[in-house]
Amino acid sequence: MESNALMWFRKGLRIHDNPALDHACRGSKRLFPVFVLDPRYLDPDPSAFSPGSAFAGLNRIQFLLESLADLDSSLKKLGSRLLVLKGDPVHVLCRILKDWDIGKLCFEFDTEPYSLARDNKVKVNRGKPPLTYQSFVALAGEPPTPLTHTYSVLPPIGDLRGYEVLNIPTIQELGYGDVKQEKFSPFRGGESEALERLKKSIDDKEWVANFEKPKGDPSAFLKPATTILSPYLKFGCLSSRYFYHCLIEVYRTSKKHTSPPVSLVGQLLWREFFYTAAFGTPNFDKMRGNKICKQIPWRDDEELFAAWREGRTGYPWIDAIMIQFLHWEKGRDVFERLLIDSDWAINNGNWLWLSCSSFFYQYHRIYSPISFGRKYDPTGKYIRHFLPVLKNMPNEYIYEPWTAPLSIQKKANCIIGIDYPRPVVDHSSASKECRRLMGVAYGSKPSAEENLNISRRKPEGDDQKEHQQNASKQRRKLI
Ligand SMILES: Cc1cc2nc3c(=O)[nH]c(=O)nc-3n(C[C@H](O)[C@H](O)[C@H](O)COP(=O)(O)OP(=O)(O)OC[C@H]3O[C@@H](n4cnc5c(N)ncnc54)[C@H](O)[C@@H]3O)c2cc1C
Repeated sequence: MESNALMWFRKGLRIHDNPALDHACRGSKRLFPVFVLDPRYLDPDPSAFSPGSAFAGLNRIQFLLESLADLDSSLKKLGSRLLVLKGDPVHVLCRILKDWDIGKLCFEFDTEPYSLARDNKVKVNRGKPPLTYQSFVALAGEPPTPLTHTYSVLPPIGDLRGYEVLNIPTIQELGYGDVKQEKFSPFRGGESEALERLKKSIDDKEWVANFEKPKGDPSAFLKPATTILSPYLKFGCLSSRYFYHCLIEVYRTSKKHTSPPVSLVGQLLWREFFYTAAFGTPNFDKMRGNKICKQIPWRDDEELFAAWREGRTGYPWIDAIMIQFLHWEKGRDVFERLLIDSDWAINNGNWLWLSCSSFFYQYHRIYSPISFGRKYDPTGKYIRHFLPVLKNMPNEYIYEPWTAPLSIQKKANCIIGIDYPRPVVDHSSASKECRRLMGVAYGSKPSAEENLNISRRKPEGDDQKEHQQNASKQRRKLI
């Protein structure tokens, strides 16, 4: 029997390869495409360390609004529109399900065949998520092919029974009128932009076939060395399955191509790997109570943390990007708020990785905030762009401006300690201390639940051996 269907857009903000939308349209007389603006996620939080809500920075909120506007415009072309409501989604949904006489509610989680297949695979592995990339890839197999169905028209919207539906609000209308931010991220939100960006990447078949991380230049910002599709994947403006399929098509017509983990398909598999690990690991986003996380006595120094968060460590490369110094949970929180592609599983997974808390265990390998950036960008273009205060510093001092003689600092119009901070720590001794404490933590094998005071324990030989074996099993991945 034909019924009214409600398509609840949450993450999959797109028309293409959208199984939930496909189910919602099938056999439905009326279709109510809904997005609920959740005040918990969107309302301004004046106490947050940067403009935005309690959960998201302004750039990400703006990206979401752009994605909604694009979705609304695509729906309009198909004779429908996005019905925007505001409130606690649980309450709003419960009311409209009844009031609009909805017979079928569709949203992406339950109906997404890829998720179901993935979850079933996890169960096949005796309910344990695979914890190495290689074992994940071996278990995951091929994803199902994306839906190729295109719509010429959608079922009409039914009677709204007096409900006031909103237009997509502007950032000012969301309550951010007093925020002085004129420019947002250069990456515009939305499915149209996502598909265009994807097309640009895959049109360059040679680039796709030869893509190899970490060979690209991480300091390239005008013409990035990667696809910049992660925010579109995060909001579901782009289907990861469709992306994967397009890449496989390119490979099919290429003489040779790179392979996971370094290839572009390999990058997408990292995404799925972290999703799977996160899905099957209780307390994935914490150190305590997280069985796969090393228990490390991270320093808890609010001043150092704020210097890092606000880009005033005195190390230009760090200040221009941000690398980790303190407890990974704190760095994760900063990224969770500020990244436009912020994604729970991937952000936590990468922080666990880079802090050598899980997945990757070569803690003695510490990136240098001086030589790492210099290798890719010897003249410091990236630093000069994002830290204009250093723009006149000669090349030889750009990564270590505190070593420049005063006469050079004066000539460059940048006095260290006044115009740009001195280093907050001496990297050489701080990294030695970090390595020492991590060595102790690795050797002490505490239980996840323990309230730790690791530095008092003695290293145990067997665990060191186990760590070394793990480390050699894991392949280095540079992000
Ligand atoms: C500390 C830290 C936190 C991170 N937090 C996030 C996050 O919140 N959300 C997020 O999407 N990515 C996160 N990443 C991973 C990675 O940095 C971004 O996915 C990548 O920069 C996106 O650029 P791209 O789309 O051009 O990637 P490409 O190199 O073009 O790769 C294509 C896609 O593969 C996936 N991918 C690539 N690298 C990774 C990776 N290391 N882990 C998982 N998936 C990957 C992404 O979906 C990406 O869009 C984090 C990395 C680090 C080091």
